[in-house]
Amino acid sequence: MQNNFDLLIRNASIVDGTGAPRFTGDIGIRGERIASIGDLSKLRGALEIDLAGRIAAPGFIDAHTHDDRYMLSNPDMAPKVSQGVTTVIGGNCGVSLAPMPRPIPDPVTPPLNLLDGEGEWFRFPSFAAYLDALRTQPAATNCAMLVGHTTLRVATMDDLTRPANAAEIGAMRTLVDDAMRAGAIGVSTGLFYEPAIAAPTEEIIEICRPLKEFNGLYCTHMRDEADRVIDSLEESFRIGREAGVPVVISHHKLVGQANYGRSEETLSFIEKNMARQPICLDCYPYTAGSTILSADRAATSTRVIVSWSKTLPEYAGQDLADIAQKMGVSQDEAVQRLLPAGAIYFRMDESDVQRILRFDQTMIGSDGLPHDAAPHPRLWGSFARVLGHYGRLLGLFPLETAVHKMTGLTAKNFGLKDRGVLKEGAFADLTLFDADTVDEVATYEKPIAPARGIDTVIVNGAVVWRDGRPTGARPGRVLAREVDSSDKEMV
Ligand SMILES: [Zn+2]
Repeated sequence: MQNNFDLLIRNASIVDGTGAPRFTGDIGIRGERIASIGDLSKLRGALEIDLAGRIAAPGFIDAHTHDDRYMLSNPDMAPKVSQGVTTVIGGNCGVSLAPMPRPIPDPVTPPLNLLDGEGEWFRFPSFAAYLDALRTQPAATNCAMLVGHTTLRVATMDDLTRPANAAEIGAMRTLVDDAMRAGAIGVSTGLFYEPAIAAPTEEIIEICRPLKEFNGLYCTHMRDEADRVIDSLEESFRIGREAGVPVVISHHKLVGQANYGRSEETLSFIEKNMARQPICLDCYPYTAGSTILSADRAATSTRVIVSWSKTLPEYAGQDLADIAQKMGVSQDEAVQRLLPAGAIYFRMDESDVQRILRFDQTMIGSDGLPHDAAPHPRLWGSFARVLGHYGRLLGLFPLETAVHKMTGLTAKNFGLKDRGVLKEGAFADLTLFDADTVDEVATYEKPIAPARGIDTVIVNGAVVWRDGRPTGARPGRVLAREVDSSDKEMV
């Protein structure tokens, strides 16, 4: 007897990614797409999985990642596929691996060292060369990539401490145009960090000019997520308006005790502006952030864990306060001895995290840092934590809503056609999981651990994660941003 499908998933509780209530059915996959959804009990598949009522959902889309190099150096993408992620948005916070048309400085200019402290991976002279590498050596996950403003500054400017001059802006704009032609989906900034902090608003507007022609996006780690957060939101919206493109507010949060509770104000400000221009936002489900170590950031946090140190790697995973005590020096002096280094900073309020997660338009992004020796647990845990801890245990939202925030909503905002929803004809990116047990296992103390409750993860019809380990399949694609004409009207 002939098989009707390559893969047939039976007795699934289908959460389709649109936010609609779950329904029971079977899913038949042929090649890379979903061929049929419904009662397929009389049909057969070459491979069959009986879910016995467990959940079939679209594969999760990680709205905010730093996986640019990880996809090439660790193509199994275990931290992501183990929690059900099938597509990652990379090149965030101004930090992209490409283009680097001249040798990168040694030591690598922070925060570009989040991707590679040695600099060897900044080897792609053009964005096209980088995307070609992702296509010829695919990862287990799909990706859609942004070009980073900080990378462009390092690639074109000799003095990073000042605004770019007209020639440098022209050079950066040419690189943006090249990247968009090659298949980038937009530009990201990390205005919070040196050296991007030296860039005035006008510099960003000018380098974003090519985006409109390609329907690109502007994604930003804003200049200020603390006292001046409203000014920074307004700056981000202005850049979107003047460049004529949608804005994505990355990992929206409120930093510092003085700003605890202000998500009420920022979300209503965002909502008000959403009526005027296209704005999206994402969030990671934790009260601690993580980035490169600095004495200033450490001083304004209630607790600091060192996530890596190039100089003193043995301290990764330890609290900065303990390290300073062991060294018999001040916290500031300990920071100086550890640099270059990364850290996890506790400086957000739980009620803000919950309010932002609950907000209708908030997508889920991990912001995971895959090269850190002792990474923030968000790298391995974000998606499972939203489903388990925040969804099932705290009841922040129904499962259908949680899934929508990591699938259908994200695919729509980033223009990922036929992704993020389960329907006939869509790409077969799926996550099969147990709604009663799914949760993160990673903790601040033991941050490297696959989530629990995730059975099987499928990318473009190929099984990439099963029985708690990667299968070795690497069906990932580089995805383009495709926008309906009705969405274009909004800009
Ligand atoms: Zn960031």
